[in-house]
Amino acid sequence: MLIVMKADATDHQIEAVVRVIEELGYKPHPMPGATRTAIGITGNQGSVDPSHFETLPGVAEAIRVSKPYKLITRDLRPEKTTVRVGDAAIGGDELAIIAGPCAIESRNQGFAVAEAVRRSGARFFRGGAFKPRTSPYAFQGLGEEGLRILAEIREAYGLKIVTEALDEAGVDLVERYADIIQIGARSMQNFSLLRRVGRSPLPVLLKRGLSATLDEWLLAAEYIMAEGNYRVVLCERGIRTFAQHTRNTLDLAAIPAVRRISHLPVIVDPSHGTGKNFMVTPLARAGVAVGADGLIVEVHDQPDHALSDGAQALTLEQYEQLVSEVRAIHEVIAPAAVT
Ligand code: PEP
Ligand code: MN
Repeated sequence: MLIVMKADATDHQIEAVVRVIEELGYKPHPMPGATRTAIGITGNQGSVDPSHFETLPGVAEAIRVSKPYKLITRDLRPEKTTVRVGDAAIGGDELAIIAGPCAIESRNQGFAVAEAVRRSGARFFRGGAFKPRTSPYAFQGLGEEGLRILAEIREAYGLKIVTEALDEAGVDLVERYADIIQIGARSMQNFSLLRRVGRSPLPVLLKRGLSATLDEWLLAAEYIMAEGNYRVVLCERGIRTFAQHTRNTLDLAAIPAVRRISHLPVIVDPSHGTGKNFMVTPLARAGVAVGADGLIVEVHDQPDHALSDGAQALTLEQYEQLVSEVRAIHEVIAPAAVT
């Protein structure tokens, strides 16, 4: 059930509806919007009787939700959500650029890349401390030591830190050092992990699973929001197909498809989406052209020596060029990307 308040509903009237929802044993999710507040209801097993709400002061309508999702949808919040992270944002007017190495390998490596990321004007730095590797013998990340380096980078350059948590214990650590928790493609349906980050004060970058449909991906976001964390950023990072010319098939049609259903910001990862250095910039351009709110891009000071994902890492020079190109494209399509 979705309660839509009248445009002139008072805070007092909204609070009264929230109280009724709680008294019924359900969880209220008030979403203030530009023109009106809507309140999502979760925690109900069967359908909720609209007559509890229809006569309450300030209520415009009580709508039964027939779709599988309640909180990610534009029915609840017609305008786009901007996820704010301190003085930076994803989903606002500015194209959000998140860049950095696949993994933090050393202090020197992290700082060398961060310096270039800062210089480009990007506001977000990525770098894995806990890496989900296919082989148990591959480099697994520096763990907490990697997080400490990330925190130093934040201090030195004012960049917001995006880093992955692989499990619930990892979330406890990431919360201490970072600004955005990344949930990787392989964890997209780790439901206890989704619930845990749903109770985090930090925003969540939710990557699309390797073989996830749009509905499965959006329902994963719904898990996070149902716990009360509404600061979710979706990330298209490519899916498994029969194609062999790329590591994954970057599904750029997912951007307008998500946009039609959800108010959440959505960004593109052309690095994992292609797996190949020479394809990253062309697909980054395309991602911005289809209306993504931002990009997450892997950059390395010495791609040939990278301990993970070297084949898709941009050099510092290539990255600098990419940023100037995608900014120009964003300028052109920004008015269309608003909706
Ligand atoms: C990453 O960002 O380095 C990563 C492992 O991404 P994904 O979960 O999309 O594979
Ligand atoms: Mn990677």
